[in-house]
Amino acid sequence: MAMSIDDKLGCDRFHADDNYAHIELNEECRDMDMIKRVVMACPAQLYRLEDGKLSFNYEGCLECGTCRVLAGGNVLKSWNHPMGGMGVEFRMG
Ligand code: SF4
Repeated sequence: MAMSIDDKLGCDRFHADDNYAHIELNEECRDMDMIKRVVMACPAQLYRLEDGKLSFNYEGCLECGTCRVLAGGNVLKSWNHPMGGMGVEFRMG
């Protein structure tokens, strides 16, 4: 039986770096259209918009770069790769 995307993602491992957030939000951003795009685009659903307030948790990031392409310098203050040995460890491609 073929594995679903969720099943495959569930096989990945994440090495969270408590001392370094590799993606930071621009707290000054008020561009709600762009914020909504980022919320919808992140495949790991790490961006949340509740009561008009954006929150984000970099743990679980797939490092796909979608949010950087969409909103680097707008919704995002910075986007970098995690430090060596940290971040996602893909196990099912
Ligand atoms: S890099 Fe990809 S997975 Fe990580 S926060 Fe951005 S859109 Fe989500």
